[in-house]
Parts: sequence; structure tokens; C-alpha cells
Amino acid sequence: MDPVLDRYASRATPRYTSYPTAPHFQKDFAPDRYRAWLSSLDVAAPVSLYLHVPFCRQMCWYCGCNMKLASRYEPVAKYAQTLRDEISLTADALPARMSISHLHWGGGTPTALSPDDLETLMGDVRARWDFAPDAEIAIESDPRTLTPEMAQRIGYLGFTRASFGVQEFDMRVQKAINRVQPPAMVRASVEQLRAAGVSGINFDLIYGLPYQTVESLIETVKLSAAMRPDRVALFGYAHVPWMAKNQRMIPDGSLPGAEERAAQAGAAAEALLAQGYIAIGLDHFALPDDALAIAARKGQLRRNFQGYTTDQAETMIGMGATSIGRTPSGYVQNITETGAWSRAVKAGELPVSKGLPFVFDDRLRSDVIERLMCDGHVDAGAIGRTHGAPESWWADALGILDEMEADGLLTQSQGKVRMTQRGFPLVRIAASAFDAYLKDSTARHSVAV
Ligand code: SF4
Repeated sequence: MDPVLDRYASRATPRYTSYPTAPHFQKDFAPDRYRAWLSSLDVAAPVSLYLHVPFCRQMCWYCGCNMKLASRYEPVAKYAQTLRDEISLTADALPARMSISHLHWGGGTPTALSPDDLETLMGDVRARWDFAPDAEIAIESDPRTLTPEMAQRIGYLGFTRASFGVQEFDMRVQKAINRVQPPAMVRASVEQLRAAGVSGINFDLIYGLPYQTVESLIETVKLSAAMRPDRVALFGYAHVPWMAKNQRMIPDGSLPGAEERAAQAGAAAEALLAQGYIAIGLDHFALPDDALAIAARKGQLRRNFQGYTTDQAETMIGMGATSIGRTPSGYVQNITETGAWSRAVKAGELPVSKGLPFVFDDRLRSDVIERLMCDGHVDAGAIGRTHGAPESWWADALGILDEMEADGLLTQSQGKVRMTQRGFPLVRIAASAFDAYLKDSTARHSVAV
């Protein structure tokens, strides 16, 4: 491994899917404050919706999500009913009927809903919002449990994109992560969705899994590319067993070390490029004519809680337990525990538990970090001027930036920062130079590579 990269690789750094990052959201955030934020939205601007379904039929040992096992449908049905009420409460808080540019169902496994419940919930959304003509309507799914009936219903309901956690096809790895899904099973799900009219398919792959090797990952890329997903996200497994107890099922000794992880990440990226994919940002790949690749070429890539996105909306309204939302006034997060979330909704409250009102500095630093994460370069001085910031407002970033420049990882001049090709895998560390919260943080983050 490159000894310079090695020196930085173990630094714990946020993923910067938001700034300020979620660990800095304030507890006991008042629902009325969120209600005021929603009521002051610009009705002419489109919004995104995120709907969270935390249920899964089986637990993957690598999972770091907030999920609940559901062996019976009853709790899922109750959850769906409460989500209907939250959709209604949230729409009531808006100043008028608004337009949706992106809608994303995430989890958990949203396709753990029955086809009828999914249709009812989508009907509720359509009853209270309009969809922009080119709106993206996306859902996360699981090849192990997606039924032909659900695939058809997803197409019928107008979904444009579906994503699958493929992770790795090697059977030893699949068994070690408790997620057995042979290539034929994944291919069948993809074909069912495409036949139902869902044109966009995303795969997630993971490196750094137990027993994984460079060879197994390259084979996974080849098998995946043969199914021609439009987008592939390649993430490093974050082993945080002190936070995710299920990860204790993965023996420490089965995990690849830092050098092997870096080799896997590099080999998988090369294999994806060889298969005709374009690298997007830090960890995404897309076919050249996919909207994400086009947005990247135009400098219009955005970053939000789902990672890199084409979504240009300034407001994302999250619904469902745990979901995070963003408005021009700040971030909010819903109550995590489904029982407490449900009780709040039944009491007629917007079920938020955490939030963070933006101060001037947050918006400025958020814009700079987002551009650096998306484009690999940023003009912090120019963005500062659009925010009315003092000249050289970014001077407090110079410590980290100077160090990285001396190591050949970036170039900088007067607030213009550009990652070098060698340094781009460490863009999160460069972004952290602009993070005003980090130096006081006690939150633990995954390592940078
Ligand atoms: S399907 Fe996804 S959310 Fe559910 S346990 Fe597996 S990784 Fe976690």
C-alpha cells in the first residue's frame, strides 16, 4: 500500500452525506419548530421525499442500519398504517400542494411491505403531492424476498429505479455475512423489474467483508456487470461492533487488513472501469449515459443521505422511524424507536426527536464540503463570497490542507483546493478540514479508506 495513503487511511472521518453530520444533531428538538420550517417552504421549489421501512426478514451480519426483524406481517402492516398517518400530518404542515422531484423508499427493506400496502401508501403520496414529469421514484429491494407480484406492482406504480444490495457473490463470504443470494436469484429479480418497466437498476457492492479476496470481488464485478446495472456503489465494510451488535457474528480474524482492503477497493474500481462504467465521486460508478454520469460531467452532482445523487432539491422530507430530513432551515431526524415514533404520530405530532437549525457558517461549510466531495475540487473563496463570508474565511482549514498538499494529495491556492488523482480516495479527510464541528467531536466514525 502507498505509505503516504497508509498514514492517512486509519483516520476516522465522517462520510459527509450531510454537514453538519448526524452525530451533531441536537436531542429533544421541538416538533413545532419543524412544523414552522415546513410551513415556510417555498411552494415553487420541488421537494424530495424519503420514506423509511425498517423491517427485514433476516439480519445480515454486516448490517449497520436501524432495522427490525419481521417474521410476521402484522407489525409491518401496523407500521404502514402509521406511515399513512405521518404522510397526512406532514402534508398538512406544508403551505400548499407541492411537487416532488425525487422519492426514495429506503430501509430496512421497503419491499417487506405487501404490494397492496405499498400501493396504498403511494396513493396517499399522490393524493397530497404532484410528481414532476421527470421525477425519479426509487425503491430499495432484496432479491431474496422480492416476489414476481411485488416486482409487477413496483412497475405498475411508476417506479423508475430499484436498488439491490448485492455485496459479494462468493458463497463463503455470503454465508459469513448471513446473506445467501446466488447470481441467478439476483438476475431473476433484475429481469422481473425490467420487464415490469423499471428502467434504472442500482447494485451496491462491498469490499472488506469476511473472507473476501481481490479475486472474489473481481468475479463479483464481472457477474454484476453482466446484468448491466446502470449504477454501482462500492462501499467499504465498516466494522463497528461496539455500535452494531450483529457485527459481532463476524470474527475479527476473518476480516481483511488495511492493505488488503485497499487492494480490493482498487481492483474492484479497475474492474468496473474495464466493464465500461464511469467513476463518480468517491464510491459510485455509472454507465456513461446514466443521469448520474451526466450530472457528474456537468458539475451538477449532489450528495445526500443516500450518497451521490442527481437530486437538486434543497428540501428532503423524511418520513418513517429514524428518517432524516433537510429543509433550508436545518436538519431533522425522526424518532428511532418504532413504538415511540408511532405514539407521536397517533398523538398528531410530527415525530421528530433531533434536529439542527443551520447557522450561517453551516450552510457555507456544507456547500464547500459537498462540492469537494462531488467534484474533487472546490473554490472555497468563491463560495464564501456568494455567502457574504469574509475573505480567507477558510484559513482554519489550512492545517490539514497544508499537510495533504505536502504529501502530494491535493493542490491549493487562495482557497482553491483540488485533489490529485492519488489523493482523491482521501477526499473525506480534505473535506474534514472545513468541518468546524470535528475538532470537538467525540463521535466515532469509520476509517477513511
Ligand atoms: S437487508 Fe439491508 S437493512 Fe436488512 S439486515 Fe440486510 S443489510 Fe441490514
